[in-house]
Amino acid sequence: MGRPAHKSRPPPERGILRVRLTLTQIATRTHHDASADADSDRNPRGTSPPCPPTVKNMCDTLCAGGGGRMLFAKNSDRPIGEAQVVEGYRRRPAGGELRTQYLTIPDHGAFALIGSRPTWLWGFEHGINEHAVAIGNERVWTVDDPSRAPDALIGMDLVRLGLELGATAVAAIDSMTDLLERYGQGGIADATLAEAYFSSFLVCDPNEAWILETSGRTWAARRSDGGVAISNRLVLNDDWIKASSGVVGSFQRWADPSMPVGHADVRLAVTTPFAAEPNADARSAAAVLRHHGGHPWGRIGQTIGPDGIDPLPGPDADFDGTGVSVCMHLRGFETTAASMIAELDSSEVIRAWAALGSPCVSAYVPVFIDRDGPAVPPVLGAPATWTRFDLLRAKVERIRDQHGARASQLELARIRSELGQLEATLWDESDRAHAIGADPRQKLLESSSMHVERALERLELA
Ligand SMILES: [Zn+2]
Repeated sequence: MGRPAHKSRPPPERGILRVRLTLTQIATRTHHDASADADSDRNPRGTSPPCPPTVKNMCDTLCAGGGGRMLFAKNSDRPIGEAQVVEGYRRRPAGGELRTQYLTIPDHGAFALIGSRPTWLWGFEHGINEHAVAIGNERVWTVDDPSRAPDALIGMDLVRLGLELGATAVAAIDSMTDLLERYGQGGIADATLAEAYFSSFLVCDPNEAWILETSGRTWAARRSDGGVAISNRLVLNDDWIKASSGVVGSFQRWADPSMPVGHADVRLAVTTPFAAEPNADARSAAAVLRHHGGHPWGRIGQTIGPDGIDPLPGPDADFDGTGVSVCMHLRGFETTAASMIAELDSSEVIRAWAALGSPCVSAYVPVFIDRDGPAVPPVLGAPATWTRFDLLRAKVERIRDQHGARASQLELARIRSELGQLEATLWDESDRAHAIGADPRQKLLESSSMHVERALERLELA
């Protein structure tokens, strides 16, 4: 293979909002704050640090089950204003060149796949392919400095490439690590902060899950037969079973020791027990992905009143995890921008459910994939749909901050009465078809977009 050619890609869309990095908006009591206050001579202007470094692009990825049936779920947390779209792609034959975010590389072809993509990126935050492989990534902090790495592959490129090339989880791992070693890892992955970062990955198929952790070209991976959850920290020790040359002993050697991990642990305390549940199902996964720091809520099909809703966390965040939740609401800074649940099994038609925006104010809409290709309702591929759900997120945050937790419960109850009914209708139809072995795609694809549009119109008019 030849040397990768660098190419220029248009800058991020103008619509991406610039985040005002006022720490008071996002994290009022960080260690950095304390040191700045205590040593005002070294900080004569009294300026805050730009942002708490660990609350950037946080995500939650989990899988539960195994032994022929695996549940996959991910919340993708991204800068405010960065839209995502859910897209399906048919198989692509090998040959010619492939443009990733920053490189042009030989094209080895692709399986059919469905992915959720920030609109300025080539790669995916999460997705599934026709062979029931699902992948999601997480930002991690390591001893290597990603800002020094030249443009190469970024984590979202590797998610998409793993889905394009992997017929099983381990095949995806092998493809991703081969590409990582060949081309390296680098380039801006957060356009709002103009930052590069390295990623960890959860790669699942119906039988097993793999955790892949990286730092530049260095990597290690471990297989798990059952449920596991990852977040924004390295978790592999000396239990890895595949690794790049030079990795000896614990992979914790590559973890940045200066980075607190409370922000990750507070969410792993929610996702890990769910991943370990033997009967974890897709409907309950939605409730976990709506967790605001109190309890899971909003299970698909469950009617819920204000008292059953986990109200939005307050506007403050801290390194110990305060204000950081699975359904993320870091005011003015970061939010859960998209979410996916997938049922990985031997069914002819693989089912997943994709949500645009924050799960608490969005709806998981069925999508499908098999060897004939993907089936994604057009409404999920429109950035305007993402914006409509995001406006609901902004409104409920404003209500929480101006009128308190109870007011946020009342507003969320109003939103869920509409979107909960929408979800129940779409999921029940999908389950009915699945139970009798019928192909649910045609009927649901025709109706899903219309149902979503109408539900949003009713919420916007109310
Ligand atoms: Zn939420």
